[in-house]
Amino acid sequence: MSNLSSSSSSSSEEEEDGDSVSREELRDMMKLMKIECGEEDEVYSRPCCEKCKHVQQSHGKKIIPERLSRGRLQAQLEGEGTYECELTGLIFEASERVLVAYSLLSWSKFNTVVQNPWMIAGPIFNVHVVDRDASALKSVQLPHSLCLAGQEKEKLVLGVLHVTGQDPVIEDVLQSSGSHVKWTVSSRLSPVGAVARDAQRVAHHGAAMLYEDLDSGGLDAHVLRLYLASCNSSHVKDMKSQMKKGRFRAVDINTFCLLLEQNYSLMSEPSGELHSQHLPFTVQSLMFCGFFEAYYEQPPPFTLNLKVHRSDVTAWTATIHQGDLLGSTDKEPSALAQQLLLGSSNFTLQMP
Ligand SMILES: [Zn+2]
Repeated sequence: MSNLSSSSSSSSEEEEDGDSVSREELRDMMKLMKIECGEEDEVYSRPCCEKCKHVQQSHGKKIIPERLSRGRLQAQLEGEGTYECELTGLIFEASERVLVAYSLLSWSKFNTVVQNPWMIAGPIFNVHVVDRDASALKSVQLPHSLCLAGQEKEKLVLGVLHVTGQDPVIEDVLQSSGSHVKWTVSSRLSPVGAVARDAQRVAHHGAAMLYEDLDSGGLDAHVLRLYLASCNSSHVKDMKSQMKKGRFRAVDINTFCLLLEQNYSLMSEPSGELHSQHLPFTVQSLMFCGFFEAYYEQPPPFTLNLKVHRSDVTAWTATIHQGDLLGSTDKEPSALAQQLLLGSSNFTLQMP
């Protein structure tokens, strides 16, 4: 994290105060900063699905956009060619040199316009051409979260929700791959996101995202929260905004899973105290999904097992060891860490 330069630059003041920083304290401060500041370096990652690996490929020249205020991103495409944004997964096909600006939106503003038999299939973005006519972009490829391995392509119809003024429309896609839908840029650019028709029985590349609640529990107690999300950065953004009320730390474990729109149950060993033993998963609104919460009074390891409700099918499992958690003695940030957290005004708080 480049932000650490601000903490290291203040080390001389800390030393004058006699408050030296150990390597462990520095590591924990980094973790705490990440909790407070969000995932600054959030980068689009292709789903690590074994079945879809062979269809995933690299697209054109990689670009890292400039970050503007309020989560807006901007990239200069140097000339005719194909460019892939490393932060969002968007792929632009330009016919000439062009400046594009874009931002990740929340589906919460648009999910009501996606009606059955259509469903949300990927993140939604606002894309604009800054210095040319929109036709300077031939196409935009939008990431989707569907696992298309083994699917009969002709039976699955993918589209792009294009929100123009009061009349959102679902437009055809030029082609689709295991990770993207390719959309021909029409006369206007505005919010666009991948959608799919009659895809209720198609699994989504998903993530079981586990967080340690640092404000709850007591000494020798651990509280873990488990959220289910499709590999859809709009959903992940919504989920993280739900978590701003407390202090949570992402537990660094394997998160990948395949998720269908259905109910899931969480099992735990040891059993701990589970709130919400079963929950629905839906891509239409992450707000409806809620989260699992597990409370333990004993030390790790904890083995979590996510199963399809009322079946033995395991969707995801993980064992959390002592080293994966901050631990109760580290739950309160030191005075120095609090000072750094409060004084670090040059952190980027918004996700792309
Ligand atoms: Zn897949």
